[in-house]
Formats: sequence, C-alpha cells, structure tokens
Amino acid sequence: MTPYMLPEQAWLSSGAELCLLVHTEGIAFHPASRQFLLPAASAAKAIERELAQAQALCLIAYRGDESLVLLPAEHSDLPEGWQWLDLRSALALLNEEDGAIAGRAVQLKHWMDTSRYCGRCSSPTQAHQRERAYQCPECGFMQFPQFAPCVIGVVVDGDRVLLANGVKHKAGIYAALAGFIEAGETAEQAFVREVKEEVGVDICNLVYLGSQPWPFPGQLMLGFIADYAGGELNIDENEIVDAGWYSKHNLPQLPPEHTISRQLIDYALERLN
Ligand SMILES: [Zn+2]
Repeated sequence: MTPYMLPEQAWLSSGAELCLLVHTEGIAFHPASRQFLLPAASAAKAIERELAQAQALCLIAYRGDESLVLLPAEHSDLPEGWQWLDLRSALALLNEEDGAIAGRAVQLKHWMDTSRYCGRCSSPTQAHQRERAYQCPECGFMQFPQFAPCVIGVVVDGDRVLLANGVKHKAGIYAALAGFIEAGETAEQAFVREVKEEVGVDICNLVYLGSQPWPFPGQLMLGFIADYAGGELNIDENEIVDAGWYSKHNLPQLPPEHTISRQLIDYALERLN
C-alpha cells in the first residue's frame, strides 16, 4: 500500500494550514492528540515529496479555497506519534465535513490504483491533461472515477421497523437493508428486489429520502423508506444473519450515527405510529 500526502507547494499556494494524509485503507491519525490533520510544517519535514507527474492526476479533495493534492510517499515517512487509522474508524470520529473529504480522498485513491491499465486493450494508461481521468494512449479509452449505485432502506409496518444483521455487519448490529442496483434497474425496482431476496417480504409506497457516498471502496447509497406489503420473514443466509421487526422500545444495537443506514432508521422511528 502506498500512502499519499500533500506536497508543500499545495498547501503553501492554497493558504491551507493543515493537510491530510491518505492511503488506500485510511488516513493518518495522531492518537495522543486525537488529531487527523497533520500540521503542514511537520509534514514538510517528515515526508519526502515526489512532485513529478503527480500534480495533474492527484488533485483529489478540496474544501473552500483549500486544494488538497495527494502524492506518493512511504509508510515509514509518517512522523513519530502518527499512525494509519482505517477509514471506518476515522469516519466515526471526524466531523461530517472532514469525513466527506477523507472518504472522497480514499475513494479516488482506489480509482487511481485500479485505472493504471486500459480496460479495453490493457495498455498502460496516462493521466489526462484536463479531465480527472486516465486515458489509453493506444485506443483513446477514458476511465473516469467510478462508483457503484446501491439502494438502502427501512421497511415500516405500523409501529415497527424491519432491521437486519447482515453477514458483512459487525455481530449484533442491526441495520437497514441494502444492495447493489443491477444493470437496467431503477433504484426503486432494485430496493423492492433486494428486500424480497434478502428477507422474503414485499414492500410498497417507496419514498426516496437522500443519498450518501460510501467509500468502501466506492458506492453511492440511495436511501428509501417503504411500507410493508405482505409476506413472511424468510432470510437469505448468504446475505443476512438475522432479521426482525423492532419497535421504538425494543431496539437492537444500531449502526453509527454518521451512516445513512442509521439516519434512515432514526427517520423511520420518529414517524412510527
Ligand atoms: Zn486502450
């Protein structure tokens, strides 16, 4: 894994006082001070910069006037006292704005790592001069940042909501149901299908509530609430460990507050009969 960093000239020219270290799995964290953002002076001293070529293709995150340019560096270059923290843990600690920057950075880093060869003719790609894209010099094919659209939602029946502990969730965490949208599907069709496949019930009255990027490594979650329309719970054991109906007074352990899953659950609970 190659970590990435801000070059000195990026934060000097932008006036930013802070920078963010990112690599594929997470961002730099200072446990003693609980800081995520590395003071630029420390970064300049601690980390070797590799400016060649990277500027055009590595501009990956921004906030206001701050342009964050990430460049290759070595693990060992992290200053003493700093460590890499996985993105899931980081998102639970960062505020929403910084969490969005970290997520975007890690997501784009993943795209950079997986776009080095042309998907059509397998030639090595080059960073495009103007677009945020990699282009094949042989056949011209362009590879832009990619993310997969997913649906996620809470099913409501009277005074209770349907929650599930998925095989990919931590044990004991009950979340909204979710899945990838397949080619040719609408988001609504995908959620109806996913709920039927994963827990066996039918739903109706879907309402779209909002979306959230999910950088593990690159999904866009489209959030729904829907009404139960019939059927018995019958879980797909390849996807779901356990699922059940829960009321306000009988809640299992829920996902962290920064997740759209939790936000959808809270929204649904507030509106229960
Ligand atoms: Zn090609």
